[in-house]
Amino acid sequence: MKTELHQNVRDFLAKPIPHHIGGQARLTATGKVTNPSDGSTLAEVSLGGAADVDLAVAAATKTFPAWAALRPNERAALLHRFADTLEKHAAEIAQLESLDVGKAIAAAEGFDVPFGIQCLRYFADLSTQAHYSIPLAIKNMEARTWRVPYGVCGFIFPWNFPFTLLCWGIAPALAAGNTVVVKPSEVTPLSSLFVAKLAAEAGLPDGVLNVVNGDGASVGAALSSHPGIKRMSFTGSPEVGKKIGEICGRNLVPCKLELGGKGAAVVFDDVDVDAAATQLAAAITLNTGQVCCTATRWMIHEKIYDRFVGKVTDVLKQTKIGPGLDRDTQMGPLVSEIQRQRVLGYLERGQAAGANVVLAGGKISPPDAANGFYVQPALLEGADDNVCCREEIFGPCAYLLRFKEEEAVIAQVNQLAYGLANSVWSTDLKRANRVAERLVAGNSWINAHNVFAYGLPYGGTNLSGTGGGVNSPETFNDYLRSQTIARPLA
Ligand code: NAD
Repeated sequence: MKTELHQNVRDFLAKPIPHHIGGQARLTATGKVTNPSDGSTLAEVSLGGAADVDLAVAAATKTFPAWAALRPNERAALLHRFADTLEKHAAEIAQLESLDVGKAIAAAEGFDVPFGIQCLRYFADLSTQAHYSIPLAIKNMEARTWRVPYGVCGFIFPWNFPFTLLCWGIAPALAAGNTVVVKPSEVTPLSSLFVAKLAAEAGLPDGVLNVVNGDGASVGAALSSHPGIKRMSFTGSPEVGKKIGEICGRNLVPCKLELGGKGAAVVFDDVDVDAAATQLAAAITLNTGQVCCTATRWMIHEKIYDRFVGKVTDVLKQTKIGPGLDRDTQMGPLVSEIQRQRVLGYLERGQAAGANVVLAGGKISPPDAANGFYVQPALLEGADDNVCCREEIFGPCAYLLRFKEEEAVIAQVNQLAYGLANSVWSTDLKRANRVAERLVAGNSWINAHNVFAYGLPYGGTNLSGTGGGVNSPETFNDYLRSQTIARPLA
């Protein structure tokens, strides 16, 4: 059953879509945004450059003193009103997200949009309870730490969860009193530009949230090196993350990097095999496998390996693949033809390097959606030095490995430089916790994969990021700089 498009979504897509700068629409030369579910053009969207970034940073700089001077409860009230407005338009945002990314509408409605909005409320509330002036007990001195926002913060986002990541990024920064300039992925800019318009409707002061669309080489490079940016945040691939980190390092701008992953699931022989196999199948079909933290290396105890493979293969074969807006769809297309070629290329290289095919994957054309960028789930098995076991593919694929000994499997998980998220599956919770502690990553989950909640820090280490992460009080603190105020007592 296809979802009927909301009139506001039709109207939004019908005309060239502008950037949102200083509360104003700014239309520049446009480029096409493609619908991954059928290959058609979804919208014409403004593509900016350095001049647009200059304007956005200027607008954010101008608004910063007044926004920062608001009392935390006043800012929180505005952010809650922003969240109310997003809730009012949640169905429209979910449709745009599904159209733009190709993700299943049920997932966009059930997770991406409500969970993103919740983030604004979480940080709005947190900001009212935070301490901004912390007394320091030092002999013969009156001293305190004074915590203030940085100023204009720059954000660059990838294309896999545009709305959720936008909220994860900007919510703590805005709640702490910073203003922001956002560059969404040029592949999926629609929800960010729609949300920026809603910010104005919600009464967020002009210039607090600015969105400039464009590619990495123009808008991304201009934003990350702009002298008006006081703090930078990048979510995306390690390759680009390193470049952003270098630029910020040169300019001495603090930078948060949330990067890719190659998560492992370690499944011991005491689990409910069918349940674990079903959950891990869901982990690679979620968002068509385009999930940085998902489990794509499955280490399965040799005693249950064959049963696990039998079950997971059955589940994956039954996955309903189709257009994002189709309500029956469990797995939509990949985001672009480029991404499809990347996934298919990895599978070819993996096989050429000796991997055994458990489930072939490959292109598929669902009825009525022949021009979309669809692939089927794929499973490979073999040696752990295979390219498909070592590199992030970002598609519905997993690499299977058998293990026997706890110590050996821990070493095998830790041999990659990625460090985003792993999971341990066992009914022996003592063992599960012991192993979870030794897997080197920002997140070790037990008997589940992809576990999110506000208050639960989420971030990566090593090649997956510089730590700190998102979604926790620590994240809020990241957007406040500390200043010591001290007076010697006579
Ligand atoms: P990408 O690194 O290619 O692009 C990310 C963003 O950077 C885009 O907006 C792009 O336009 C911009 N960009 C590209 N070159 C740039 C440059 N030279 N200067 C400034 N900006 C530039 O990543 P992608 O393909 O959009 O997304 C997939 C990657 O994102 C995967 O590696 C995935 O694991 C990662 N990711 C990580 C997290 C996390 O929280 N750790 C979340 C989602 C995605």
